[in-house]
Amino acid sequence: MQTPSSSPNRPAHHNVRGAVVAITGGARGIGRATAEAFLARGARVAIGDIDAELAGTTARELAGMQGAEVRSWSLDVTDRTSVATFLDRVEHDLGTVDVLVNNAGIMPTGAFLEESESMTERMLSINLRGVIDGSRVAGARFTTRGHGSIINIASLAGVLGVPGVATYCATKHAVVGFSEALHREFRDAGVHVGAVLPGVVRTELSEGTGFPSWLEWLTTVDPEDVAEAVVRAVGTGKPKVTVPARLGAVLGAV
Ligand code: NAD
Repeated sequence: MQTPSSSPNRPAHHNVRGAVVAITGGARGIGRATAEAFLARGARVAIGDIDAELAGTTARELAGMQGAEVRSWSLDVTDRTSVATFLDRVEHDLGTVDVLVNNAGIMPTGAFLEESESMTERMLSINLRGVIDGSRVAGARFTTRGHGSIINIASLAGVLGVPGVATYCATKHAVVGFSEALHREFRDAGVHVGAVLPGVVRTELSEGTGFPSWLEWLTTVDPEDVAEAVVRAVGTGKPKVTVPARLGAVLGAV
């Protein structure tokens, strides 16, 4: 990978041609759009997803893009062994991983007091432990090699409190704090850690959430917009990248 432009006047741009990018939860939604955005820039992409069948279909469809090198593997981010095995397989088949996108996540909605303990556990294990474990496994490899990027898909729910998704908000706030801390801890080792904070994104996860209309109006974007932000986040040295332009204007440099 080449280093990004250091000019503050030019948009951050990172050349990812030839880089190996591993994406968790890449079978659909934001993960799939992110796979497509990296492939369009000449990166080699590994999709890991708990839905191995859909991941395979997605990889086959994306392989139809000109020159695309993309593979899929079964992955459960709640299982640390599965995460390590995923990266081992990617490195064996595609080469040394340069970028890990911790994207897998779930967002059940409803009143907090009606949320089951098992659902709370599941959200913590996928949305938070999955990111921490992925970062641990990739971070050990990246810091040893002296390069690499970890991009965590957080959310505006990582800086706002949205009713109906309290535990989800807790996990995403945690991911933002974790990413900023790790960014500072790893940067001297040549490893960049970033977080992308999308608003409401048109995917299956956000369908019928019943969010307040003002929130949807302010923040709704397409998965492709998020994918662009993820590519931009690689190597920019900024720990946080937001996505919805309208909300960004309201909150300033979140
Ligand atoms: P999605 O439901 O469309 O896709 C999520 C993918 O993660 C699915 O392919 C699913 O199979 C996979 N997955 C779930 N559990 C997994 C596990 N244990 N191991 C591996 N893969 C697993 O969701 P999306 O909208 O594309 O969301 C992707 C990320 O973006 C999530 O972290 C989500 O919190 C975040 N996000 C989404 C929105 C939104 O409005 N859609 C907004 C902000 C942030």
